[in-house]
Amino acid sequence: MRCEIITIFPGIFESYFSVKIFKRAIQKGIVDIKIHNLRDYTTDRHRTVDDYPYGGGPGMVLKPEPFFKAVKSVKADGLETCTIMMSPQGERFDQEMALALSREKRRLLFICGRYEAVDERVRDALVDREISIGDYVLTGGELPALVIIDSIVRLIPEALGDEHSVVEESFSWGILDYPHYTRPPEYEGYEVPEVLLSGNHGDVARWRRKEALRRTLKRRPDLLEKVSLTDEDHTLLFEIKEEQRNESD
Ligand code: SAM
Repeated sequence: MRCEIITIFPGIFESYFSVKIFKRAIQKGIVDIKIHNLRDYTTDRHRTVDDYPYGGGPGMVLKPEPFFKAVKSVKADGLETCTIMMSPQGERFDQEMALALSREKRRLLFICGRYEAVDERVRDALVDREISIGDYVLTGGELPALVIIDSIVRLIPEALGDEHSVVEESFSWGILDYPHYTRPPEYEGYEVPEVLLSGNHGDVARWRRKEALRRTLKRRPDLLEKVSLTDEDHTLLFEIKEEQRNESD
């Protein structure tokens, strides 16, 4: 997996990519990350990347020339590339998209916007897709690019230490994750559910699935409409609803 980023704030990425999971993935050659400073593709003394908007209005617009030069320079190596613009106006990012991107054979080139906007011609000429990380507006595309890269790198087999940890987690298996506990078994009166201390793997698996279903039913019932449930899941959901009925009586 090769990810490259065009940004005016390369420093934002450095500390994040130096944490263990990325460091290891980079050292093992599982992921290759390159950051390009947009200002390196300017030609004036002040390394100007922005200008006033035609037609007036607030804010500054990122100029097209540095982006055109930067993308051309990145693509000069001839590698197939999917250029992704970070934008609140893009397709909404989710776990399904993360999985698809983690399997992408092309290099992923992320363009991070800033200020009021990026000149529309960048979008028209250079961008294959626009992705939004949610219906809110951030100051720049750096955090969205990090969010996307983080979520896709951890889906690449071998990137995480324990390959199983991405299978049974929220969204990957269609529903929310189950509650997790570690030692001590009791802390300030809060106890770990007994079944987790029992050593009975079958009981533990059933409890986890049931608690995951309980959470999903309570917090994100919409997910239950999309996921295919087993007979056992239906039994567990029936039990959960019965328990809820008894609690409210
Ligand atoms: N004026 C733009 C609009 O209303 O669509 C918002 C510009 S925003 C202040 C600056 C940059 O931050 C955008 O060009 C984009 O790269 C990034 N950005 C902001 N919110 C985002 C989001 N929810 N998802 C992805 N990128 C976002």
